[in-house]
Formats: sequence, structure tokens, C-alpha cells
Amino acid sequence: MKRLRLLGQWVFHCVKVGRVLGIDVRIHWSFWALPIGLALVSLPHGWPLAVQAVVLVLLFYAQGVLIHEYGHALMARFYGVKTRDIILTPIGGIARMESLPEKPAQEIVIALAGPATNFLFAIPMALVLIALRAVPFATVQGNPPLFQRWTDYAWALTIANVAMACFNLLPAFPSDGGRVFRAFLSLFLDRVAATRVAVYAGLFVAVLIGAFGLLNRVVQLPFIALLFATIGQMELWMVRRQAAIRRRPRLQSALIHPHVAVRMVPPEEGFSGYSWDAREAAWVEWRQGFPVRICRLYLP
Ligand SMILES: [Zn+2]
Repeated sequence: MKRLRLLGQWVFHCVKVGRVLGIDVRIHWSFWALPIGLALVSLPHGWPLAVQAVVLVLLFYAQGVLIHEYGHALMARFYGVKTRDIILTPIGGIARMESLPEKPAQEIVIALAGPATNFLFAIPMALVLIALRAVPFATVQGNPPLFQRWTDYAWALTIANVAMACFNLLPAFPSDGGRVFRAFLSLFLDRVAATRVAVYAGLFVAVLIGAFGLLNRVVQLPFIALLFATIGQMELWMVRRQAAIRRRPRLQSALIHPHVAVRMVPPEEGFSGYSWDAREAAWVEWRQGFPVRICRLYLP
């Protein structure tokens, strides 16, 4: 048991790097696989390219990924849903919310707020770069291709933000687009059915993305597809469980007022225990011939 807990601590281990707008930002240990992997892949082409790759990925996380997650978190806050923290992983960020918005319209707005912030950065940035007559990657020189000016980095960030927003808008649950699709379905279906349809539609898209990745040798894509499929199944399980808990019969009990108690007759003198009261359709708890509590079961 202790070993299992240690394994759990290790698997979910994150390091807090700061707190912005009242939300902790944490880095999951696996995040470092991304810059280290990129550096190793680019190193045979020279260390300047490796440094450039690492700088680009760190810049993108510090800007694109963070503003995307803050978009979700701040919109959720607007609807009264708290965000525990934002975790950075090699496949993007996760804004961990303390509860899920139940109203479909709120879920749609919160899901769209993430990609919207990416566009809010990318569109003005592109306009500034166009105004400065900075053609995308015009100053990239040499073999390996190295960025020469800050505008190259700015263009790379702009394109990465647009790509991130578009990828997240794919209707592959649990992506943002998938959440919008689920919320739209829950206008006509109950939450479990809506989630099931969205998860299986997401699974279909994930298989397509994975197959595309395998055929084109983009190794990250099958990995992302597998992760999407797993998270989708986990969310479906969670929504089913929440629905089952909600359907469970509940016990409602109340103390009996002494004025009412004196009019009630115990099953036998000095009775202690429970008796069924047919008129009230409830159980009555007795203590030494005195009724103390009335209990009802009700189905929500
Ligand atoms: Zn998102």
C-alpha cells in the first residue's frame, strides 16, 4: 500500500513554478522530456539548432500554452468554477478545475475561451509583423536553418498559437472542440449519453490522427491519440459514476418535535428501535417508548 502511494506520488509529481492571478502553475516531471528530446534530436545538426529548438518550445509554453489555459481558468472563474492549478505536460497544459460546469452554454464558453486567447495573441501579432514588413522566416539562414531576428521567433509563436487553437478545436473529446460537441449534444441528450457519443466520436478522430502520425512518421501523434482515447474513457467513467451517485436513493431524517411526539403511540411499552409508520410512509426511531426521529427514503 505504501509502495503504491509512493508510485502515485511519483507519477503525479509536479513542481510549483509560480502563482499568477491566484492560480498555481506547476510543471509535471514528464514535461522535461519535450525540450530534452528536441535538443537530442537537433544536436546532430549543431548545438545552435538545439538551443533554438529548446528556446522555441519554452517560449511557446510560457506564452501560448499558458494563455490558453488561463483563458479556460478565468472564464471558469467568471461562472464561479474554481481552478485548482495549471499543469504543464509534454502534450500541453491542463487547467484542473474543482468542479465541472453543468450548464451546456457555460461549458461551451469555457471550452472556447482557450483557443480564443490563442487567436487574441496571434491575430494582432500577425498584423504587427505584417506592418513591420517582416515576411515569415525570410531572415532564416544557413543549414541548419537558424533564426536571425526576433521577428522569426514572433512568426513561429504566431503560427504555433494558430496551430494549437485549430488542433484544440478538433471535435476529439476531451479536446476543447470535443467539449463543445458534448455540451451541444447535452441540449438534446442526458449528460451520460452526450458524453458517450462525444467520447466515441473523439475516439474515431483519435484513431485517424494516430494513423496519420504512423503513416507520416510523426511519432508524437499516435502517442497523443492514445492519451486522448484514455482520458476520454476516464471522463466517460467519471460522468457515469456521478450519474449513478445522483440516482442513489437518499435518506432524509428529521427530529420529531415533542408536541408531535406525545400524540404518537409506541408499538409496545418502552420500545427502542424502528417502526414503520404507514400514514407518514416513513420509519420512526424510538428510544424507550419515545419517538425521536423520522426517516424517509426518497429517490431523486
Ligand atoms: Zn484547451
